[in-house]
Amino acid sequence: MLPAVIAAFLAVAADGTDLSSDFNTRFTGKTLRFDYHHCGDATQEQIAPDGFRLEGEWAGSRTQLVDALDFGKYRFVMRDAAGGETLFCAGFCSIYGEWETTGEAKRQWRAFHESARFPEPKAPVVLAIEKRADDLSWRELWRGDCDPASRFVDRSPITPRGGVMPIDVRGPSADKVDLLIIGDGWTGKQRDAFIDDVHRLIGSLFATEPFKRRRADWNVRAIMAPSPQPGVTDPRRATFVDTPMRLQFNAFDSDRYMLTFANRELRELAAQAPYDALILLANTSKYGGGGIYNLWATCAADTDVAAYVFVHEFGHSFGGLADEYYSSQVAYEEFTPAGCEPWEPNITALLDPAQLKWRDLVSSGTPLPTPWDQAAFDALDLAYQKRRAEALAANADDATNEALMREIKASGGKQLASEPWYGKVGAFRGAGYEATRLLRPSVDCIMFTRNPTAFCPVCERAIERVIDRYTR
Ligand SMILES: [Zn+2]
Repeated sequence: MLPAVIAAFLAVAADGTDLSSDFNTRFTGKTLRFDYHHCGDATQEQIAPDGFRLEGEWAGSRTQLVDALDFGKYRFVMRDAAGGETLFCAGFCSIYGEWETTGEAKRQWRAFHESARFPEPKAPVVLAIEKRADDLSWRELWRGDCDPASRFVDRSPITPRGGVMPIDVRGPSADKVDLLIIGDGWTGKQRDAFIDDVHRLIGSLFATEPFKRRRADWNVRAIMAPSPQPGVTDPRRATFVDTPMRLQFNAFDSDRYMLTFANRELRELAAQAPYDALILLANTSKYGGGGIYNLWATCAADTDVAAYVFVHEFGHSFGGLADEYYSSQVAYEEFTPAGCEPWEPNITALLDPAQLKWRDLVSSGTPLPTPWDQAAFDALDLAYQKRRAEALAANADDATNEALMREIKASGGKQLASEPWYGKVGAFRGAGYEATRLLRPSVDCIMFTRNPTAFCPVCERAIERVIDRYTR
């Protein structure tokens, strides 16, 4: 562990302008949180404000306040109340945004609690939440005023709970990616076990490129609020645990999908530390996880493949990466609308091969779409999915499920590695829960199967661009 560096952060633009002084003119250096309910069904959606909350130090960049990445299904925008100038903008995805593509959204309304965090302005501003249209342009969903000096901002101190543990803190939050790991389902007596799991999984993340070469750009902290009982809620096994962060399997009735719906509790605990990115670890030996862009990732800590899940889910939540697989059971019915180019940097509808978003990484002479033996892969994968469904129906134990995963990894990995275009960037049919309509950049990638230990070049570049956003 390195000691925290206490240094004044001074950013200088290419033309010599001191950008941090511009930040200090407009912002206090603290974080404001806007809490709201995101509600609706498959055909309509509404934002219902809940309140404003003052948090601690602003951990994000003080020079890149307007998001140039343009990732996400939604974006949060802060504009100057007088001139309408954009002061801050950040793309994100949400549980609501996934839920509205499920069958349940066709039958009923639901509401999800969400938060947008932004640097506290010194003067009144106008806030907006915008949603991406099918043509990738933005439409305003909600607009409201925010006067930071008003009595409507809760400025009470954040209650200390759980104790923030510096795992590896290397510099000021303004020019580092601040990663906060939150533990759920460990009892007070299991604190050391939680810290061991954090070190093990962080080790796997920073053994993977591009995190490995950018290690010095990160601060890592951890926190856990002790749970009265070990483990997390697993509805399909009739296990219900009142953990502080309410992590639970079976989100959207998908067994291995682990989320929490207790957003306010989570934000209040996290607000004790500066953070740009969150990973929620669950004390369980059952395989599972989840990751939503610019929200958080979840991961079961105590499985054979925990290190893989940790990195894969963080690929979603940090890198804005889509799943490159297409055959697993998911609750989404049409995650990417037909005939549309998805916004995610690592999947494409290939509507115009000449405009492929990763065309600069494709070697000349590579056909688009790029051929691969999809039928052979599908046959193997289908047999695996069938056995997995049988194991789920029979309530098989964790060891049986893990043995099944090891078996498919051994056979599927070998098959993919023998593909003629293996290791090359192209456009391979089958991605983003769509067997034919969407394509992925490489035969294999951490976002496609559990076989590889590396991201494909397209995913690796996307992650590095996000690191740059917080550090340059
Ligand atoms: Zn990839």
